[in-house]
Amino acid sequence: MNKPTIYQLAVAGVQKLIPYKAGKPIEELERELGLTQIIKLASNENPLGPSPKAVTAMQAALADLALYPDGSGFHLKQALAAKYGLDASQITLGNGSNEILELVARAFLTPELAVVFSQHAFAVYPLVTQAVGATAIVVPACDYGHDLAAMAAAVTAQTRLVFIANPNNPTGTLLAQAELEAFIAALPETVICVLDEAYFEFVQQAGGGDSIAWLQKYPNLLITRTFSKAYGLAGLRVGYSLSSPELADILNRVRQPFNNNSLALAAAEAALADSEHLHNTISNNSEGMLQLTEGFKALGLAWIPSAGNFVAVDIGREGLPVYDALLHKGVIVRPVANYEMPNFLRISIGTAAENAVFLQALADVLR
Ligand SMILES: *Cc1c(COP(=O)(O)O)cnc(C)c1O
Repeated sequence: MNKPTIYQLAVAGVQKLIPYKAGKPIEELERELGLTQIIKLASNENPLGPSPKAVTAMQAALADLALYPDGSGFHLKQALAAKYGLDASQITLGNGSNEILELVARAFLTPELAVVFSQHAFAVYPLVTQAVGATAIVVPACDYGHDLAAMAAAVTAQTRLVFIANPNNPTGTLLAQAELEAFIAALPETVICVLDEAYFEFVQQAGGGDSIAWLQKYPNLLITRTFSKAYGLAGLRVGYSLSSPELADILNRVRQPFNNNSLALAAAEAALADSEHLHNTISNNSEGMLQLTEGFKALGLAWIPSAGNFVAVDIGREGLPVYDALLHKGVIVRPVANYEMPNFLRISIGTAAENAVFLQALADVLR
């Protein structure tokens, strides 16, 4: 008699899931190689750290930790609504914007439905799609970016969801606002369009447009943003979406009642008000992007022009061994073979000192 294994008991989509592989934590490399003075440029974190105002706000919130957090996230939603000129009913808070991506999949997908996203797009899209057993339609990229015409053509009667990352991770490619709006406008109303703007703050600086105005026109549009990247609060897990109130209402039905903890809520609200820290973050990023790309040029390496706080560099050979050699020099970057980019490494922009250490290590490894 054949007993089913635990694996066979899991739902079909989950059986085939390969877990998300995060950037290697500094402590893990310390344990593995006994190194100290490690730098991590692997997860698009803010090299300047969190806003000092966020840290102060968390210290003040510590006294109330015995109480459940405000499950409605009232103050943070008010602050976001005021910042963006929206109503609080249009905002959904998530445990990272990652949770929002999961909530959308859970609320809108079944095994009969399909999801369209681009080749080289953020790894979480295939994961949340598979977990609910829906079909992923992966559209070949164009110059490493989204091919919107091909994506529009891939939409069928089964399609319920489209994921677009703008800028995209790990490629850093950015779509023009006009082209993007035309794509959204042409989507059937039965398709939810998730516009993932995890790196929005870095684009805005560069004169990027603002997609929020589109929310009035497209009730099927969901914009996701996060406090993990430019706001430097990745460890706290706070993200959010902006949408029609109806779409927000649906997501609100499937989320956990206390999906943001009270320290995270307090810190995010304070971080949002610290425009100076955000400004310094964006300046550091622009300078660091220049420092890294000039370094690549000097090494004769090509890279994909990036609108985010990271850059994918083509090292002209298999990336994994170079990634490993960099680890031995105490530098953690991100291999992206799992994104069908085996010859690339993705480097997060660090401080000027970190960028310099990385460039020297890369030069030594490639020599
Ligand atoms: C980092 C990232 C996210 C998720 O970040 P959270 O920490 O969960 O908010 C979402 N989308 C893209 C494209 C990202 O790079």
